[in-house]
This record gives sequence, C-alpha cells and structure tokens, in this order.
Amino acid sequence: MIKVSIINDRIGRVIDFCERIEQVLDIPHELRLIPIDAPFLNLDHCGYPVIASFCATSSRPNELSEAPYMLVCTDYDDFEEIKDSIAHELVHYEQWRDGKSFTERGVAVRSRNILKLMEDYGN
Ligand SMILES: [Zn+2]
Repeated sequence: MIKVSIINDRIGRVIDFCERIEQVLDIPHELRLIPIDAPFLNLDHCGYPVIASFCATSSRPNELSEAPYMLVCTDYDDFEEIKDSIAHELVHYEQWRDGKSFTERGVAVRSRNILKLMEDYGN
C-alpha cells in the first residue's frame, strides 16, 4: 500500500480551500488548479509577488476543448495572502465565464465578498 505524504502542509490547506470554493461560486467548467511548490510565480505585478494566476487558453467559455486553469503557489509564508490571491483570480475566472473582458475594476470588492462567503460557510 502506498501512502502519500504531503511534505508541504500548505499544499493540503490550499487544496482543501479550493475544493470548498464551489460552495459559494458557480463553476460550470472544469477549472484546473495547479499547485506550485514555490513562494510565488516568477512574475512581477507592480512590485508585488504574484501568488496565483488565472489562465484561459480559449477566449470564449464555450470552447471547452482546453480547460482554463489557475496556478497557485503553495509555499508563500502568509496563508491569508494565498487565499486573497485565489479569490482575486477567481474573479478573473468569473469575468471569463461571463464573457467579459479582463479588468481589475471591482475585483477587490468581489474577491472580498468571495472570502466573506467562504467564512460564512466555515472555511
Ligand atoms: Zn487581477
């Protein structure tokens, strides 16, 4: 019998958090979550490290041949920051899902709402 050990406990916490997102969010697509065992992606956003990133390989939600995916770094020190980043990227997923163009407008408010809803569900 093979027993899998999760070396980085944060990976488990991130996966656990992501699995419960559908309690508060309508995700009618296969949205792949790819955990990255690193503190942040090798990207820079206005001087801040990028912890998560939503990537859509097709411009329209109906083209399901290639599923959208989200990269999530699991080795960042602050788990609250990881959750903030996931919620932020989920708002970009919603924009994509709803056929809207990507914008940062309203993202902070909506991502706070997502986190609040998650808290209300005991996450
Ligand atoms: Zn953004």
